[in-house]
Amino acid sequence: AIIIADEIIAEKYSKKNSKEKLAEQAVRTGLAILTEGIVSAPLEGISDVKIKTNFDGTDYLALYFAGPIRSAGGTAAALSVLLGDYIRKRLGLSKYKATEEEIQRFIEEIELYERGKTNLQYRPSNKEVIVALSNIPIEITGESTEEIEVSGYRNLERIETNKVRGGALLALAEGVIQKSKKIEKVLKVFELEGWDFLKDMKKEEKKQSDDNNEKIKANWKYLSDLLAGRPVIAHPSSKGGFRIRYGRSRNTGFAAWGYHPAAMTIVNGFIAVGTQLKTERPGKATVSMPVDSILPPFVKFKDQSCDWLYSYENIKPEDVEEVIFLGDVLIAYGDFVENNHLLLPSGYVEEWWELDFEKALNEKGDNLTNFKDILEGNRIPEVEEAIEISKKYDIPLHPKYNLFWSYISTEDLDYLINYNGFTINDNTILFNLEGGSRIKGIIENLCIPHHVSSGTVKIDSYILKLILSGKQTLGDTVLESVSNLLGIPVRDAIPTTVGCRMGRPEKAKERKMSPPVHVLFPIGMSGGSTRSIIKASQKNYIEIESVNKRCPKCNTKTHLTKCPECESMTKMYMSCSHQTCSYEGSNVISEKCPECGSSLRVYSKKKINLKDDLSLALLNLGYELPKEVKGVQGMSSEYKIPEPIEKGILRASNDIFVFKDGTCRYDATDAPLTHFIPKEANVSIEKLKALGYLKDYQGNELTDENQILELNVQDIIIPKDAITYLYRVSKFIDGELEKVYGLKSYYNLEKEEDIIGQLVVGLAPHTSAGTIGRIVGFTDTKVVYAHPYFHAAKRRNCDGDEDAIMLLMDALLNFSKYYLPQKRGGQMDAPLVLTTRIDPREVDKEVHNMDICSKYSLEFYESSLKYLHPKEIKIERVENRLGTDGVYSGLKFTHNTSDVS
Ligand SMILES: [Zn+2]
Ligand SMILES: [Zn+2]
Repeated sequence: AIIIADEIIAEKYSKKNSKEKLAEQAVRTGLAILTEGIVSAPLEGISDVKIKTNFDGTDYLALYFAGPIRSAGGTAAALSVLLGDYIRKRLGLSKYKATEEEIQRFIEEIELYERGKTNLQYRPSNKEVIVALSNIPIEITGESTEEIEVSGYRNLERIETNKVRGGALLALAEGVIQKSKKIEKVLKVFELEGWDFLKDMKKEEKKQSDDNNEKIKANWKYLSDLLAGRPVIAHPSSKGGFRIRYGRSRNTGFAAWGYHPAAMTIVNGFIAVGTQLKTERPGKATVSMPVDSILPPFVKFKDQSCDWLYSYENIKPEDVEEVIFLGDVLIAYGDFVENNHLLLPSGYVEEWWELDFEKALNEKGDNLTNFKDILEGNRIPEVEEAIEISKKYDIPLHPKYNLFWSYISTEDLDYLINYNGFTINDNTILFNLEGGSRIKGIIENLCIPHHVSSGTVKIDSYILKLILSGKQTLGDTVLESVSNLLGIPVRDAIPTTVGCRMGRPEKAKERKMSPPVHVLFPIGMSGGSTRSIIKASQKNYIEIESVNKRCPKCNTKTHLTKCPECESMTKMYMSCSHQTCSYEGSNVISEKCPECGSSLRVYSKKKINLKDDLSLALLNLGYELPKEVKGVQGMSSEYKIPEPIEKGILRASNDIFVFKDGTCRYDATDAPLTHFIPKEANVSIEKLKALGYLKDYQGNELTDENQILELNVQDIIIPKDAITYLYRVSKFIDGELEKVYGLKSYYNLEKEEDIIGQLVVGLAPHTSAGTIGRIVGFTDTKVVYAHPYFHAAKRRNCDGDEDAIMLLMDALLNFSKYYLPQKRGGQMDAPLVLTTRIDPREVDKEVHNMDICSKYSLEFYESSLKYLHPKEIKIERVENRLGTDGVYSGLKFTHNTSDVS
């Protein structure tokens, strides 16, 4: 960014520009590089760059920010300020000297902005604002984004508006101030002076965090903006809340968490595949993904019996009286790295025990192959064998036989052991509940499955039998006492839980404007509230604003691209915007009318005979008139070029609607997927082979629909409903190619499933760059499963974002910049550029933190108990493979799931 800025200032690319123009180009191009050219911020986030004058007569640089700077993210916004300062210095301009009023104006605006509908992610203190603004060497300002006006610091000479400048606030608060730590690091590169104040800010922040650092406390923040009807699933760090299970499944990571399908079932349908949840930590939000290789919930049924919900297909929420423990959530190590969050103690889980066992075997010099199946997690030792292993190798009790000892007190343990009303028969223990409810409570808290009938609790547990045969407890804690009673170490099964609440429901549906539209053709008010073209065509003529076109051959004036009289290509011409002036120019572009001095435009109000247009379109198509064809009231694009009505008839006949840019889109929640199973994706082996999937992820020949395959980084698996929708779009496009353009049809699909193998464009809101993907299957969920690289290429992660897909041919054929609204923000959410091939080095860097190994190390689990920073432990992440072939394939996951739908 610096190099290019230097070159622009040195007038390497264009000469004879004013300093102001050079500065503007350097800032925009620099910011585009900083944001990997994906977001629209460089175009629309900075509305202007000006050279203005200090009150002492010196010149300085001012950056004008607009609302869309948000899409660049705080760091890029902050860096653009640094870049601005760098350019200021290179152009030999003075520093900006803020007045007291200008500083106070910012403070007033921040208060007003916070009272409005959107919150700042970071609300700086007044002191921070004063320090920052008195020091930043360029002016951060901008155009108004809100309707609210300031009341105190109005009519300031150097601030053009009295309304709130949202873009400027974002650049200051979420940019320079919030990211002060990050930009301090790059100051050296820019060789800038006068930024020392950042250090002071950092100190203040550090003091605060030192105080909080003693122990990780429950974090209530995710509950602060609760909405009715969006339930809290678990309170912060509460007993019975979700246990953190470290790992990544093939459909988790990159912010997405794994939930046991049984947990999804019993929370009354509030969590489905793709539901967004606001979370306590390590990040702020996630989407739920089904992972069935983790611990399911432990529940109490209506008859007071309790059990683990390993099988859940027949369980209904109404059968369950109480959820005692919600089960595991699978959270990837990479998410802790990404969020810069200290590790939290891991429960003593199977994968940890296997590492302990392996280490003990190695230390004793014993042969590992004897226990290969156990070490690989393929066989769980029987309880006697597990105890024997623990005794022989001095390792903790296998997690399968562990109980939730930290959920009871030492008094509870005493009470349990000395309880009078139990009998033991083989491994079956019968508790008589006549003595009261305390014993039942203890058994429930330990999460021991038990059956209740006629006042008796029946338990099958060898471990509990051993515990009950002890007579006294020795030890300061329950875990110590239990270890002493069993004669083997017993570790804490559940040291940490996290809370979450429902955010947004999952989403998958076609994009419709409101009201929905078949064609971008203006009909004014003549179509009524439904914008019916058919209704409008019943009038003798309608008056619309549309582009001026003229036939060069026969001089016919029209809004059509092809002359309706002689079929020649028409040309645009300018006309005067003044009502009574009839001046019409040639195609030469000039700004002022030579006759009256008003401005010239390429569009004008004209009367058209819609009935004729419609009949001509039907004739061209050879179609019957559909029941309804909906147009738009007017066009907000610069030239007001309408779409051919034929497209509307074809879309209506295929029951699809169009978006403002001319494409047909399907929106769905983003979900990650690195590996898939043909069966779950409803795709045949033959089809997959044709698409290039020849081997499974372990290198075996693909022969069975249950094998696990590594997903190619640009392949996606879409909702079933999207298959139906895109199939209809393909029919529209084929009709369009044949009837409107006189070309051969392209898709020629026979059935909906044939959409598998077709190319699409993925596009995120607020961005202007699409990424090409290929459909390889579908599921019964409401998510688009795609490789995390694909989502990162769109600059999204998987914490609840929803993006669009459209057929590639639709984007190529029907998208046009000329349809986009001229207003600010109009270029967002449009495929202005396309990424055809993903290079993980060029996508959003968040995905570089995703872990890609098949298991975490013993050091990792032990470090979690010490609350170490995740970066102090080495676990392979995408970052470690960048620039090698290994970045595209050979990725691994730690926990499998049997079905992602
Ligand atoms: Zn003509
Ligand atoms: Zn005129």
